[in-house]
Amino acid sequence: MTLLTFRFAPSPNGELHLGHAYSALLNQQMAKAAGGRLLLRIEDIDTTRCTPEFEAGIHRDLKWLGLGWEEPVRRQSGHFADYQAVLDRLIGQDLVYPAFMSRSEIRAFIADSEKRGRDWPRDPDGVPLYPAADKALPVKERKRRIAENALFAWRLDVDAAMAHVGKHLSWAEFADGTLSATRQIEARPQDWGDVIVARRDIPTSYHLAVVVDDALQDVSHVVRGKDLYAATSVQRLLQEVLGLPQPAYFHHRLVLGPDGRKLSKSLGDTGLAALREAGASPDDVRKLVGL
Ligand code: GLU
Repeated sequence: MTLLTFRFAPSPNGELHLGHAYSALLNQQMAKAAGGRLLLRIEDIDTTRCTPEFEAGIHRDLKWLGLGWEEPVRRQSGHFADYQAVLDRLIGQDLVYPAFMSRSEIRAFIADSEKRGRDWPRDPDGVPLYPAADKALPVKERKRRIAENALFAWRLDVDAAMAHVGKHLSWAEFADGTLSATRQIEARPQDWGDVIVARRDIPTSYHLAVVVDDALQDVSHVVRGKDLYAATSVQRLLQEVLGLPQPAYFHHRLVLGPDGRKLSKSLGDTGLAALREAGASPDDVRKLVGL
């Protein structure tokens, strides 16, 4: 029988807080109950916001909490060639296109359209969908802009990708503590529009790196916060297009701050390092997050 594999995958762009502690400890608890493996993955593709100090903090905080994981730890920034190879396949399949509009151009385009009374569609995070203009650019014009060194990101042509897959997609969502009791959730990748799969400066994006790594690392069970529930739709589509296996998912409750809002990386008082320095023990943290 193959071992079940869980992973905790933080980004070192801030300090870990109680929400991360809950996610990490839940992964540990579920991996242990299943007699499975626990991996730590450092999601540091954003080389401008991720720092070695935050990464060292992650290791320190997780060790303090009593988390153990398999070595070596996969650091995404060391594997850009893996993501580039997958991106090249998507380019070859004509399922991605170069998107040239800058953020301010997108904003202006949408403001202009909304001025004329048209509500612009937004993704589940509330971000306006990418305008269709670049998808319609003639190949000659694309080539001309690229030859002139215009900056661009690669975006997934979600309609083409769905047509390529040719069927409705869903994912298995399991329930807290019972890995077998799963529900099939309908995936709705179109809700996100044409998402970025590779950014202007790096040959990947969060979605692409996550599906590639979950497959490369044989992750069978993804346990992460509810804030990523809707993103699973995009990841299922990418898995299907790339012929990757699909893990089962559990999107856990979020640990909220005293104001009832999602914790952010700048909230010092719920940071694990701050709690430790104030004399809290790992058991106090467990209690604080309800474990
Ligand atoms: N790196 C992501 C984060 O810190 C988590 C990705 C995932 O668990 O799929 O929010």
